[in-house]
Amino acid sequence: MKTYNRISEIRLDIEAGAVSCVQLVQNYLQNIEGKKHLNAFLEVWAEEALLRAAEIDEKIKQGTAGRLAGVVIALKDVLAYKNHKVSSSSKILEGFESLYNSTVVERLLAEDAIFIGRTNCDEFAMGASNENSAFGPVKNAADESRVPGGSSGGSAVAVQANMCHCALGTDTGGSIRQPSAFTGIFGFKPTYGLISRWGLLAYASSFDQVGPMTKSLEDNMLLTEIMSGMDNHDATMLQQPSMKFTQPTSPKKAKFAVMNEAIHHPGVDKEVRENFQKLLDKLVSEGHEVTYFDFPLLEQMVPTYYVLTTAEASSNLSRYTGMLYGKRSENAHDLESTYVMSRTEGFGSEVKRRIMLGTFVLSSDQYDAYYNKAQKVRRVIQNQTNEVLADADAILIPTTSTPAFELGEKSKDPIAMYLADLFTVQANLAGNPAISLPLFETQAGLPIGIQLMGKSFKEQELFNLSQLLIETCKS
Ligand code: GLN
Repeated sequence: MKTYNRISEIRLDIEAGAVSCVQLVQNYLQNIEGKKHLNAFLEVWAEEALLRAAEIDEKIKQGTAGRLAGVVIALKDVLAYKNHKVSSSSKILEGFESLYNSTVVERLLAEDAIFIGRTNCDEFAMGASNENSAFGPVKNAADESRVPGGSSGGSAVAVQANMCHCALGTDTGGSIRQPSAFTGIFGFKPTYGLISRWGLLAYASSFDQVGPMTKSLEDNMLLTEIMSGMDNHDATMLQQPSMKFTQPTSPKKAKFAVMNEAIHHPGVDKEVRENFQKLLDKLVSEGHEVTYFDFPLLEQMVPTYYVLTTAEASSNLSRYTGMLYGKRSENAHDLESTYVMSRTEGFGSEVKRRIMLGTFVLSSDQYDAYYNKAQKVRRVIQNQTNEVLADADAILIPTTSTPAFELGEKSKDPIAMYLADLFTVQANLAGNPAISLPLFETQAGLPIGIQLMGKSFKEQELFNLSQLLIETCKS
């Protein structure tokens, strides 16, 4: 079967009778089976997806199908889908099934999307390589000795290797954009508050956002549009109806801001740097403006992110006690040992490390030195980011400093792993929207992502600028 890069192409073929929803699902199921060794899925809902596809084929015939009829989607294993398992790739949620739908799932179902399965990820979305999953790492389909990035690594590979049409990920510090960059797809983290977090298993609530991972910009826009808009279940949301996007059009003249510290950072890979420079030169030669700014706080971003997210995680994850749901240790004999042993056996080592760090920075004698201080630094980063954006259309930066690294390369060194987030955490600290575009490849064929960070709630502008970059690279 042909590979579809756009929902609109699927739509045309369905309308012409060239393909049916059932055939599409069968094709993806075949690919999933053939590429099992990549370990992208934790569970595949084969029978159910086929049944739903048949129902939607019927709706198409009746002319009552929604905007996502024929669109087969994979869900990162952190999103509640009623009566389906969800585990955050953790043993602590063993056997747990969602009691309700997350808002994003509800909205996609209402447009007739078909969910094909839940994808592997780093445990509780904590990681940058998918190696922290309790169910084994995921392999990058571009080079199977390499990681797909994380934490939404399974979703990224599911799209990359055509095991579904598109996928949902979540992004707390880069978890949509970094794996998208490593696998050559489009990954978007919306402005904080654009998409409901209801039904998302929390990692760090003031950072987490759900977003689409797709093979085209237009699909990313459509899914964002459908998922956006107020939801009374999430008090942090923008109180406005869903966004309406129009076809992205390249602005005639745009102004991009580039961070000096980022391009001169010693950790930036040679090929990433060269391709990025090529893009800047081309933009200038086509009459666009590229300005450079200093951002001395770059080095503080990753530490600030880790103080705040681990604090929030230690609080969010305190609900997993072995009492109400999920895993309960069989070796426990009273209340305290139920808590201690269920958590000891249920959480993996990275999650434990972060719970301990978060508990430490929140403890009464450390609170001012770490948590409070980090909150203040976050505000300064936010203000400075917005000052730069007041004078430019977007901040332009490679999504990651290197292409996908080898499996095992950084897993023994948490600090090296944390630095994989160097260029992505800014958007989460500030709350701004940011997208990773698959614009280049290394000589060896590894994808390189370029990131655009835009103004809060100005997603259409960001998509227009993305279109400009895509066209600039083609020309
Ligand atoms: N890699 C980052 C971390 O380990 C980001 C994770 C995320 O965005 N969920 O926290």
